[in-house]
Amino acid sequence: MIQHLRNRQFRCRGGFVFVTLVVGFALTLSACKGDQQKPASSQGANSAPAVAAPNPADFDPPANAPAAPKVDGKRAIQYAQEIVNFGPRPIGSETHRKVEDYIKSKLQGLQIEEDKFTANTTAGNFPLNNIVAKIPGKKDGIIVLASHYDTNYPLRDENFVGANDGAATSGLLIEMANQLKAKANDGYSIWFLFTDGEEATVNWSAQDSLYGTKHLAKKWQQDGTAAKIKAFILLDMIGDKDLDVDKDGNSTPWLQEVIGRAAERTGNKKYFYNSEQAMDDDHLPFKDINVPVVDLIDFTYGFNNLYHHTTEDKMDKISANSLQVVGDTVLESIRALNTK
Ligand SMILES: [Zn+2]
Repeated sequence: MIQHLRNRQFRCRGGFVFVTLVVGFALTLSACKGDQQKPASSQGANSAPAVAAPNPADFDPPANAPAAPKVDGKRAIQYAQEIVNFGPRPIGSETHRKVEDYIKSKLQGLQIEEDKFTANTTAGNFPLNNIVAKIPGKKDGIIVLASHYDTNYPLRDENFVGANDGAATSGLLIEMANQLKAKANDGYSIWFLFTDGEEATVNWSAQDSLYGTKHLAKKWQQDGTAAKIKAFILLDMIGDKDLDVDKDGNSTPWLQEVIGRAAERTGNKKYFYNSEQAMDDDHLPFKDINVPVVDLIDFTYGFNNLYHHTTEDKMDKISANSLQVVGDTVLESIRALNTK
């Protein structure tokens, strides 16, 4: 996914601290001013009503609630292998088109929608396709599970197959669909989103990245879909054999904690949130339109991140167990989200 993230991250964090100080100082000033000038009864008359964030503990399922299904980690990694077997799948390539067909073939029985458009990227125009497969539910609302499936375009002439970076999570999404479509869905609708054009075309920047999700977030904002999304759960690079899912500083805290509590209940807590990083990833365009988002990503891939965006990102670096851990935790999180 991200290039030069660490440098950017430190800049972001520095900026965040600075902004926090400035805003905090300004708020202190305005609060003092308000205290002096306005009677308490009129304070806040012009401000939007505060919406309290949900309490993560309120989502803990009751003891007698039916258990969540579990994924088959071996089958999930088999799908990842099949995607990798196509070879590099950068945007605009024949392989990319074949992988689109492969993904759709694995989601038979679900309602499939394609968001096809031409992206005007830093490297020129490319046809992109966000693929959405839907399991309708009885409750009014949508939970989106997302993974990108394109491989890094700048590495298109190397044998970069993105086993962890795109294939593992796409395979896991297919397997979670297998589990969730197996019985009637009394909860929220589940949408499996295979995003396209996540990768930069030249150098990662706010402009040169996330082409598919920027397009789809705009579309879903305009057609009213975004307002129905209860949770947008993004998976990226979590096939790593040495799994440690980061606590992402750009995710919605209450949703992140609902998933942390699900990890605890499934016995997987040790794999989660041992390090913190702020991620620029496919969740950001949805965060920008006020959708609750979380990015489940392990952005330490090999010593000193040696396997990230290199030809070393191969099947021997990922494991069925890591997909099992994240898949089971996400399915338990869906069970929790459905309690509300
Ligand atoms: Zn990548």
